Amino acid sequence: MRFAIFGDIHANLEALNAVLADAQAHGVTHYVCLGDIVGYAANPGECLEIVRALECPVVQGNHDEQACANDDLAGFNPLAQFAIDWTRQQLSPEQKDWLRAMKLVRQVRDFTIVHATLDTPQRWGYIFNPLDAEASFNYQNTQLCFYGHTHAPRAYVRDSSTTVHSHAFTADSPLPVEAGKKYFVNVGSVGQPRDGDWHASYCLYTPADQSIQLRRLEYEIGAAQDKILSAGLPQRLADRLALGK
Ligand code: ZN
Repeated sequence: MRFAIFGDIHANLEALNAVLADAQAHGVTHYVCLGDIVGYAANPGECLEIVRALECPVVQGNHDEQACANDDLAGFNPLAQFAIDWTRQQLSPEQKDWLRAMKLVRQVRDFTIVHATLDTPQRWGYIFNPLDAEASFNYQNTQLCFYGHTHAPRAYVRDSSTTVHSHAFTADSPLPVEAGKKYFVNVGSVGQPRDGDWHASYCLYTPADQSIQLRRLEYEIGAAQDKILSAGLPQRLADRLALGK
């Protein structure tokens, strides 16, 4: 059994296709999606249908929530607002119903998934340091939890003394899952990485090996950028893909 755990696709079809091809090449048997399927790039409906066809566990992200809502967009920056408005026009009522039905937190086998934080998942807070992660650990009932939202791969580890450490999490070295420790793992973003590296990001988790492997992948970034511009979405949304921020 091997899981591909991926999220923050943000309507980037080229990046999603690259991730799913890589997962298949690595013998993935199960898929898990951490939300923000839509928002920012030009293929929200296509990405939604691909994830839906996987019939895998999914949790709702803040962009998924907004894309199927009708209220105003207070709290989002202008770029996100523009993209959410545009995305609402692209999705069918039936696709919005599917987004609306998603849960915020789920347990999959022996691990938990959430988009943003476990302590207050509906508030969409950002975890940037061990102190932020501590609050989530207090609500984590499984040894492992995977999350997204910051678009930057990172692993927080709580040892038996309940001290939380932040671990750089790179594609070069798998993260071992050790007994007696808890792990809160950010798998990075498929469609809009923000850690300064433009490559699509996701994780492989193999329970038999107790190891988590980050993957970073090339994809047809030029095609994704062209589609953002032809859709009339802001230039900045195309530019940022290449900058990885
Ligand atoms: Zn996101």
